[in-house]
Amino acid sequence: MAWPTLHKQAQSGGDPNLASYDEACASFSWDNARAELDGLPGGGLNIAFEAVDRHVRRGHGDRLALRWLGKDGTVRDFSYRDLMLLSNRFANALRDLGVAKGERVFLLAGRIPELYVAALGTWKAGCVLSPLFSAFGPEPVRMRMALGDARVLVTTEALYRKKVLPWRDQMPQLRHVLLADAEGDALPVRTLSLDHALRQAGNDFAIVPTAAGDMALLHFTSGTTGRPKGAVHVHEAVVAHHVTGRLALDIRPDDRVWCTADPGWVTGTSYGIIAPLTNGATLLVDEQEFDAEHWYRVLQDQCVTVWYTAPTAIRLMMKLGADAVWKYDLRHLRFMASVGEPLNPEAVMWSQEAFGRPFHDNWWQTETGGIMIANFAAMDIRPGSMGRPVPGIEAAIVSRGAGDVTPLDTPMAVGELALRPGWPSMFRGYLNEDERYQKCFAGGWYLTGDLAMRDADGYFWFVGRADDMIKSAGHLIGPFEVESALMEHPAVAEAAVIGKPDAIMGEAVKAFVALKPGFSADEPLRKDILGHARKRLGAAVAPREIDFRANLPKTRSGKIMRRLLKARELGLPEGDLSTLESDEK
Ligand code: AMP
Repeated sequence: MAWPTLHKQAQSGGDPNLASYDEACASFSWDNARAELDGLPGGGLNIAFEAVDRHVRRGHGDRLALRWLGKDGTVRDFSYRDLMLLSNRFANALRDLGVAKGERVFLLAGRIPELYVAALGTWKAGCVLSPLFSAFGPEPVRMRMALGDARVLVTTEALYRKKVLPWRDQMPQLRHVLLADAEGDALPVRTLSLDHALRQAGNDFAIVPTAAGDMALLHFTSGTTGRPKGAVHVHEAVVAHHVTGRLALDIRPDDRVWCTADPGWVTGTSYGIIAPLTNGATLLVDEQEFDAEHWYRVLQDQCVTVWYTAPTAIRLMMKLGADAVWKYDLRHLRFMASVGEPLNPEAVMWSQEAFGRPFHDNWWQTETGGIMIANFAAMDIRPGSMGRPVPGIEAAIVSRGAGDVTPLDTPMAVGELALRPGWPSMFRGYLNEDERYQKCFAGGWYLTGDLAMRDADGYFWFVGRADDMIKSAGHLIGPFEVESALMEHPAVAEAAVIGKPDAIMGEAVKAFVALKPGFSADEPLRKDILGHARKRLGAAVAPREIDFRANLPKTRSGKIMRRLLKARELGLPEGDLSTLESDEK
């Protein structure tokens, strides 16, 4: 079968880092990749040292590491030396507070410069970083900080008051809250000023020796059942961040890299902090939320060369049309990539028209820590395909039987996307949940939970999730967490949540609710339940829509059949109903 193809283009600025896919795969080894980094001078490996200090030691201290664009028009520049000294100060501040190696430092903030300093300083102190999404409501924040045993939180005053203060008394182990924007008399009780702590701290810090296998990052991700899972990543992950940044995003030392991901999600750390810095490039950070015209202006004025964004934003840009793009001089833009949800083929074709170059879709997930499948700069693109595995990564389509896994070698067979474990940014566990972790592996494969196909030339095509997880505007949302919050409402007897297709966000969260006796399914109650969910969960996670039902369909063992609700909502075949016990109809 001949696929519609966008042929690779001659690039400005010479050959891409990965000039020939086949040659790169044949010659690749993770040992060689490790050798691209320096390692700590006294032995060991530390993400912050590879991202910042080693560039200063090599004489690049004056190079621009981070340019921050504030909402109010302020521009702040940080050289690699600045970042080294500020992160030393943060690490000293942690030590002065008595925070020990391995303890967890949580970040809850938008894109403010302090977040980047705190992340790097946390790793230098040998502590574990756990970034949270600042649009979460108080409950998801509390739940994750409790599961992760948070000792330190870096946040802002407004976020603290709204999302932490309501439950702070329930979490005595949270010893220190550092506020980035409050000082002196304005500080709420039991908080500290981050600025003051940084000013008091010294410029010199000997990085706490961390081994490649020491925990560095705790990224929470949602599950279909039960509590969120804390995916554990180690310092060695930096090898994969660095190499995938170089090969899949084509980052070079003279690049201006703009990763628009929120710093509370894994992309915001792996490619919004680590990979551009390990590659010696300049990280561009824009504090503002999405606005297409503003983004084009940033791309133009900041001479962005590498741009990593997501399908929801791309679809919003498409709505404005290509004309809006043509008003700007984007000649510096060399490589554009997308991740997090399926990128429609039309969006790839549109970007070719609007920007004169395509978005390169790539695939990965919290558990993989870094890009696994990508459309590389040197490769022809098949719009709608996620691309081919990164050199060093073995991917397959498999079928899961009872206890075994069979690779499906026929082109375009639908099965679960599986990866051969062993790459450096592979998660090393779900915190305190070994059984859940072990369930992700079978027959020597890591099973991703995604359904996909592989064509005869080795390109992978996303089909859907194998489970009930919802992807809304790029955010992975576990139905169970949303259902639990709905169940807390006094009128709700049962709740089930599905992802409903949405032209812009990919999916929107929709809830089905059965009421307790004595409550009537009317508009004021619907609004009240929606408001309750929004307050508990935050607007990004709460349902947009609620349908009332007399009963929800259940299996004989009492499990609500979300799939059936979804099939009915979409007018799709209802599938196997042999386990259906009670029904809504
Ligand atoms: P997260 O762990 O939040 O990063 O979400 C990972 C999930 O997002 C994957 O398992 C996929 O379901 C989805 N995803 C990520 N990248 C892509 C992509 N390029 N195309 C389709 N789905 C994607």
